[in-house]
Amino acid sequence: MSDAMCSNVHGRLRLEAAAASRILVMESLLDYSGHVSARVPGRDAYFIQQGVDPRSHVRPERMLMVDFDGNVLEGEGRSPVETPIHGEIYRARLDVQSVLHCHMELAIAFTLMDGVQLAPMRARAVRWQSGIPMHPDPSHIKLKSQGEALARDLGPHHAALMRAHGLTLVAESVPALLVDAVHFDENARAMMQVLQAGRKPLPLTEAEMEQINRHEMREFHVGKLWSYYVNKAAAAGVLEPDWDLR
Ligand SMILES: [Zn+2]
Repeated sequence: MSDAMCSNVHGRLRLEAAAASRILVMESLLDYSGHVSARVPGRDAYFIQQGVDPRSHVRPERMLMVDFDGNVLEGEGRSPVETPIHGEIYRARLDVQSVLHCHMELAIAFTLMDGVQLAPMRARAVRWQSGIPMHPDPSHIKLKSQGEALARDLGPHHAALMRAHGLTLVAESVPALLVDAVHFDENARAMMQVLQAGRKPLPLTEAEMEQINRHEMREFHVGKLWSYYVNKAAAAGVLEPDWDLR
């Protein structure tokens, strides 16, 4: 890749990750902590915001390029303390291009209930057909060994709950990650509503999920929702007027 092409690709990834972070705050899926990252193509590195920067005001030019051991390669400042989550997942999962770690309340609630397993309930939750494992360590992921343990528990899946702590989601792009976060929350809410109604949840069956998958148009769906949220956020003043995210 030429230097110019490289800087275009990097600029776009920084912009998408910054926008996704702001949008997730707007949607109350991210708050004072948690982070979105994007893998740098062709390098053992990723872009992530600085730990001290508000998630509601992440700026692309302030994001850091960090290697899988957490060393800052580009930019000045410190990455978030839970950076090993990102590095160890990128190291273990070559298919993953973007990672979200957050402390989504509904996700946490499903780590606090005896005998209840969060399962795909709504149609879009087929994304998690292979399972939603729970990482049992309730402490913050500050060490490489903790990141490795989380990556092991995540395995080949697209989401991992973290006991009494939060959630980690992985996806093939930053827009797809944003869309998955929205649907993860919707699905957890649906299951919680059933439980709060005192009824037995009826998760999607394997046959139903196969039926949904036959008609799945993930790329189209991701594009549609990314456009919706980018426009909503721009109209609300959440994104900077000169950010071109089309
Ligand atoms: Zn955390």
